Amino acid sequence: MNVLDPWSPQQSISASNLSADSTESARLASIVNSYRPNLTKYEEFYRQVHQKPEISGLESETAALVADHLRTLGFEVHTHIGGEGVVGILHNGPGKTILNRAELDAPPILEPVMHACGHDMNMATLLGASNLLKAASREWSGTLIALFQPDEEETGGAQAMIDDGLYSKVPIPDLLLGQHVVTLHAGQIAAKSGPVLVAADSINVRITGGPYENSLNPQICLDPIPLAMHIISERDDYVHERIGADEDVTVACWGFHAGVPGNDYVAYADIPLDVKTVKADVRKQALRLIEDKIKVERRTAGTPKEPQFNYSVRAPLTENNDKTTARIQAAFHDYFGSDSVPMRFTRACEDFSLLTGGHNVPHTYWNFGGSPTTDGEIPTNHSPFFAPAIEPTLEAGVSAMALAVLAFSAS
Ligand SMILES: [Zn+2]
Repeated sequence: MNVLDPWSPQQSISASNLSADSTESARLASIVNSYRPNLTKYEEFYRQVHQKPEISGLESETAALVADHLRTLGFEVHTHIGGEGVVGILHNGPGKTILNRAELDAPPILEPVMHACGHDMNMATLLGASNLLKAASREWSGTLIALFQPDEEETGGAQAMIDDGLYSKVPIPDLLLGQHVVTLHAGQIAAKSGPVLVAADSINVRITGGPYENSLNPQICLDPIPLAMHIISERDDYVHERIGADEDVTVACWGFHAGVPGNDYVAYADIPLDVKTVKADVRKQALRLIEDKIKVERRTAGTPKEPQFNYSVRAPLTENNDKTTARIQAAFHDYFGSDSVPMRFTRACEDFSLLTGGHNVPHTYWNFGGSPTTDGEIPTNHSPFFAPAIEPTLEAGVSAMALAVLAFSAS
């Protein structure tokens, strides 16, 4: 054990045996089981928020509910950070500061808005775990921050909270934790080291058309639509052929806009592209390949203007810290037994890791299951049919979040 490394497990944990010391495991389990609150009120909270979903940036009622509950638990509460962001702080003596994050918003889906990503469940589990840890405050020492982030679906909320001075109100954490309900079987927990979610970049490309030289006839112009369609149809294969089929990279097209009805002159075509990658060098290469390809196509088509490229980072790579994750995995393994399952890497993205605010804060992000069944087609997150079973999902999520905190702070 490297005593200089604050994140080294207190017990020896090897890759082949994730089990922590059995006495310590039994103690953590006993704290979680003895202090876990009656979850009925969190079921009610879940139902209440589920029935009144609010989209990114407009989460005022959800934020107010969360803030009220944190106040009743005795947390120091700050609101309206980066929009509707809420943090609750529980000062509980010396030790590590651990920030746990959940999301307030719901994506715009059929209804036209529903909690199709399960953020209602993520919030309910963080409130339940906050209650558990407050009740168990004699058993651990440190500072707990419960953070409820707005605008995750548009991946703007984490940075907005940082830009709005989050860390002037809240101590910079030693560890950042987050969990998300997914389509694993309800009651299952999954964590892993290394990359867990992709990096995502947006490129808004504008292809400008224009008149042929000396032509005054609007019908005789270089139409940007066929050129834009050609670029859309080739973009993914082109990048894969050059980067290699084994590398994890996708170039999706999210839409297409060109022209105005009634006007036969099409000035430009806009193509929003979404590039998802895992490795930094592949990301750089993919972005360069796309830009070069579009420039070559434009020259071949002979349109008068260079295309415009508007780049923005939607989300950085979410990459779990090896040491903090190994310790959390060991705690999960011992508590959940066979319900602690391997975590799969997914091509979803998150702004969770931006909550480090550029500070060197290790982070671990894991999944918990919500599917009532393993049979047939299970609706995924963002499907209009996504519907976690309230139990045992809620109990497992509350226990997992509390365990992860206790693994670093139990005294
Ligand atoms: Zn989500």
